[in-house]
Amino acid sequence: MKAAPFCYHAARSVGEIVSLLETRDSSTVLLAGGQAVIPALNRRLCTPSLVVDIANVAELTIADRAQDHVVLGACVTSSAVEDASVPDGTRGILACVAARSGPRTVRCHATIGGSLCLGDSVSDWIVGLSALDAVAEATSACGTRSIAVSDIGRSRTSAVASDELLVSIRIPDIAAGSWWGTWDLRRSAGARPDIAAAVLADARDASFRCAVAVAGRALIVLAYRDPPEDLRKVMGSGAPPSTEAMLDIVNDELAAAGEERATARLIAAALGRAAASAIRV
Ligand SMILES: Cc1cc2nc3c(=O)[nH]c(=O)nc-3n(C[C@H](O)[C@H](O)[C@H](O)COP(=O)(O)OP(=O)(O)OC[C@H]3O[C@@H](n4cnc5c(N)ncnc54)[C@H](O)[C@@H]3O)c2cc1C
Repeated sequence: MKAAPFCYHAARSVGEIVSLLETRDSSTVLLAGGQAVIPALNRRLCTPSLVVDIANVAELTIADRAQDHVVLGACVTSSAVEDASVPDGTRGILACVAARSGPRTVRCHATIGGSLCLGDSVSDWIVGLSALDAVAEATSACGTRSIAVSDIGRSRTSAVASDELLVSIRIPDIAAGSWWGTWDLRRSAGARPDIAAAVLADARDASFRCAVAVAGRALIVLAYRDPPEDLRKVMGSGAPPSTEAMLDIVNDELAAAGEERATARLIAAALGRAAASAIRV
């Protein structure tokens, strides 16, 4: 099947895109890396009258180093992060997240912003950037606002409104001596994860931040300023704790998040595996 006819416009600036979004009808679509949009067009799952290509807008491909964080434009690709073509204040964690986010042929086109805007809680970028406590910036004719990436994952649909453009993502630096662990379950090597978890033990303030998602469900983020001793012991141990042992550690938080027992067990097991496989960065 081929896409239905549409007009194509290559945008040149954020201001131009915002104007188009302000006046657009529901049949205008933004095109970043196209890894989700193009198959949807070809299958006629969406039949827009106008496709606005945002991939080459300079403001959306920035990569700026600041004192304690990095700002990446929404249209920076996964492969640019993986190949260290952009600054990384996370001691290589970002590159690891990028390298997991689909096959290399997809990663060469797929953008961080596109992944976030799809709002799939189990996406590698949503889970990874949530554990890193990253914040996205979105703009529209009404102004600019910050959205925690974890809130995008919690919403289960795109938290970016239809008249908003996601412009950039601000990623805090990670201190030397921090621990980072991830684990996911996929049906096959090239498939999207069914469950994904990431755990960060931050050496700067000894805090812990865990993000875990099960496909089709909202992201869970657990943050500990004063982490349980048992969780510290699991970190980097190489031996995943039993599901029951991990559930004992995180059960209160999962119960507070309203998770049923069966899902809570799955989440606890995933977190245990991510924590046990952590490496020091
Ligand atoms: C074969 C395959 C395997 C994959 N495997 C994985 C995987 O293992 N892990 C994983 O995490 N992901 C995986 N993905 C998902 C892939 O990474 C995403 O589809 C991709 O990142 C979407 O980004 P994009 O730049 O291609 O977005 P596009 O397809 O261009 O856009 C996606 C959506 O976001 C909107 N959008 C894009 N950018 C913006 C913006 N700046 N502001 C507002 N709206 C915007 C678009 O209008 C569209 O609705 C896989 C995809 C494929 C095709």
